[in-house]
Amino acid sequence: MGKKKFKTEVDQLLHLLIHSLYSHSEIFLRELISNSSDALDKLKYLTVADESYKNITFEPRVDIILDEENHKVLTLSDNGIGMNDKDLEESLGTIARSGTKNFLNQLSGDEVKDSNLIGQFGVGFYSVFMVADKVEVLTRKAGEEKGWSWTSDGKSGYTLVEKEKESHGTTVILHLNEKGSEYDNRWQLEQITKKYSNHIAFPIFLHYESKSFEGEGDDKKEIKEDKVEQINSASALWKRSKSELKDEDYNEFYKTITGDSEEPMFKLHTRAEGTNEYTTLFYVPKKAPMDMFYADYKPGVKLYVRRVFITDDEKELLPTYLRFMKGVIDSEDLPLNVSREILQQNKVMSNIKTASVKKILSELKKFSGDAEKYKEFIDQYNRPLKEGVYSDFANKDDLLELVRYKSTKVEGWTSLAECKDRMQVDQKGIYFITGDNESMLRNSPLLEAYKSKDIEVLIMDDEIDEIVAPMISTYKEIELKAINKSGAMDDLKTEDDEKKETEIKPLLEKIKTALGDAVKDVVASSRLHDSPSCIVVDENDPTAQMQQMLRQMGQTEMPEVKPILEINPDHDIVKKMDGSSDEDLIKDASQLLFDQAMMVEGMDLKDPAEFAKRLNRVMSKAL
Ligand code: ADP
Repeated sequence: MGKKKFKTEVDQLLHLLIHSLYSHSEIFLRELISNSSDALDKLKYLTVADESYKNITFEPRVDIILDEENHKVLTLSDNGIGMNDKDLEESLGTIARSGTKNFLNQLSGDEVKDSNLIGQFGVGFYSVFMVADKVEVLTRKAGEEKGWSWTSDGKSGYTLVEKEKESHGTTVILHLNEKGSEYDNRWQLEQITKKYSNHIAFPIFLHYESKSFEGEGDDKKEIKEDKVEQINSASALWKRSKSELKDEDYNEFYKTITGDSEEPMFKLHTRAEGTNEYTTLFYVPKKAPMDMFYADYKPGVKLYVRRVFITDDEKELLPTYLRFMKGVIDSEDLPLNVSREILQQNKVMSNIKTASVKKILSELKKFSGDAEKYKEFIDQYNRPLKEGVYSDFANKDDLLELVRYKSTKVEGWTSLAECKDRMQVDQKGIYFITGDNESMLRNSPLLEAYKSKDIEVLIMDDEIDEIVAPMISTYKEIELKAINKSGAMDDLKTEDDEKKETEIKPLLEKIKTALGDAVKDVVASSRLHDSPSCIVVDENDPTAQMQQMLRQMGQTEMPEVKPILEINPDHDIVKKMDGSSDEDLIKDASQLLFDQAMMVEGMDLKDPAEFAKRLNRVMSKAL
């Protein structure tokens, strides 16, 4: 096999990677060690779960070798699963991982300069080309005879040839470049390994040459000695008892498993005994994972069975809405050869999942007691929690305690519980308004009556509220009511309102005739104060924003939903209309009342030119 070209995207990635991560070149070591650790996990798993690997005995380890004779060579070796020619081509000749692709997408923005973001991506093997101008990967797959050598300068493609290798596993030989020469240093390697890989489950050994002197004066001799030292702690931290672990230990472990350079916002270490025995260690990152809203997000929780790594690619370990959680689940009861299919139907797994969710939610509830910290949490994770309200019926009540909303009554975030406490004695529900623009919502004429009666309204300006809020239906037996729907108004109606309604009935009919089938109905409003008109949708119709969203989601066949126009009987314009006999003017005014109500809700006018003409006619009559 001769020289091969990289798939085009690799060329592109390499270039960007090398240039944008230059000041973080040390992460190449983290990436290599993490690949080795994965390879060791995989083989260890096969030797316990797969008959054909049972005869392989091995002590999993990673070796980092400093070549004292030839200072430009650094070697990293593992006795893991290894690769054959096909694996090499697939893994190192193309970009297999979505994380790398996401990273590539991000590179176009300025954000990549933020080192914390960099930490979130597994940038992978290619990072070696920041520190080396030539790299050889010598590898043999466990259970196979042939070894393979893959070589590349990271620029012009790679060569792949058969080459003998004594035992299974992978050895990566880096010919360090100028930048890389700073890693030709024992202390540096030790420090970086501790920083990123201290809690990798396998021992990492550093091979170096120690020099000392013996004798005095002319007899003084330099003694060189080859030394091997384990440089990481290699313990399954989650298995240690809480009392012997310090915050630093937890934080450091978090950094090891996530690559995040910041400390976590929240941690939760649980050991369960009884019917099911398991340990969980969960973290919430300070910043939401970059891929949280990608469909192909990388799950953050690793599954172990009796300390043996099983998978880090199982999205079902926690419900989707908790996909921002990082950490470890280690079960004592699951079989080691648990397959994905089994996992998803397994009783033990489902018990662990159910209990973990309960525990996470109840701990978050406690965490919410610290308003300042909880605000940081909400700023990042309010939205996935709202997804939970929608999707996790069993935990809906707990989730309703955790989500937060904006409000007409308080600054910042408020909870449904607080909102309930602030309710007026005769208040019939918790009111909310949905839409995508906070300031537009705050200025909506729909709020006027609530403001004048000093009733709180929740301002829901997150896209997802449109779907989730109507689902809530009740909080502690109190109804949640959308004020941009027709029904909520009835709560505010007084006898006086009803009287006025009858009085302007004839005008309403006129307006209705003028607007034709642009509206579903024209009614007298009891919720308007300063504005002459507003639009709402029928109790059973989707709101205008909801329709817009459904359309964006590809739902094109929707029955047209017509708004209801509400008219404020107390408004000067309306009173004057009622007293006027100029039928043309009433027609124009009707249309203008409708158009302005649409605009205030952020809708587009069907015919802006017609609107201007009409406005001009009315103005010239008025002046
Ligand atoms: P990632 O590890 O994030 O998938 P990398 O670019 O680091 O991406 O590696 C690509 C693939 O190459 C890995 O998924 C793995 O299949 C293979 N690989 C890399 N290093 C090793 C190794 N030391 N042993 C076995 N396979 C490896």
